[in-house]
Amino acid sequence: MTGILRYVSPEIEKLLVIQDRDKRLIQLEQQLQRIPAERVEIEERAKAATSRLEELKGKARLTEAERKQLENEVASKRTQIDKWRSQQVLTKKNEEYQALAHEVSNAEKAIFKLEDKELDLMDVSEKLASEIKAEQQVLNDVNAQAQRQKETIGKREAAMKEEIEKLKAERATLSAGVDESFLNRYQRIMRHRQDVAIVPVQHGNCGGCHLQLPPQVVHEAKRSAEMVTCEQCGRILYWSGEFQAATGHAD
Ligand SMILES: [Zn+2]
Repeated sequence: MTGILRYVSPEIEKLLVIQDRDKRLIQLEQQLQRIPAERVEIEERAKAATSRLEELKGKARLTEAERKQLENEVASKRTQIDKWRSQQVLTKKNEEYQALAHEVSNAEKAIFKLEDKELDLMDVSEKLASEIKAEQQVLNDVNAQAQRQKETIGKREAAMKEEIEKLKAERATLSAGVDESFLNRYQRIMRHRQDVAIVPVQHGNCGGCHLQLPPQVVHEAKRSAEMVTCEQCGRILYWSGEFQAATGHAD
């Protein structure tokens, strides 16, 4: 290869430089548009960790309430037992004494069972407490990470906005040197296409929509006497030697 041959008109050359800025601008605008979604995603992760922790805390509260209830039941049974025992002391009838003894014994058995359940619940509470501690650590990490990510996004956003301003200023300066009707045409296509407005002829095809171009259009693009557009996609075509060499029909 002896270097790339280009047959590009000065206006196209200028527009290609503008297009270069515009492509970057479009890219930056698209990245900026994604930022709110990125922020939402970060928030969602933090929210998910918070709700996992809240769920565990809820379970712990329920377990504690249940345990408290058992404790109350035990206390009231003990009060009842005390009453029965006082009655036992006062009674003179053996039958009544035995009946009370029976009640006391049943209540004591019930207390035994309740206290067993209480111990089980205490185990559950203990397990939940350690899960809560671990989940709290996860939440702290997630929040710290979210904070860092938000800062990074904020910096990225500011840098992108700054670059956009710089590109817009450059673009304004570059545009001043371009024929207005060419520029307007270019801008209309760019607004419509949102990617590129000026494309090279690539081996007889449009570099934008990739459809084959009529020989006459290729010929006109090569001459570059006037602005030639692709009939399929409306993009402006230019002749650049770099895409023609492979076909052997560069000239
Ligand atoms: Zn096309």
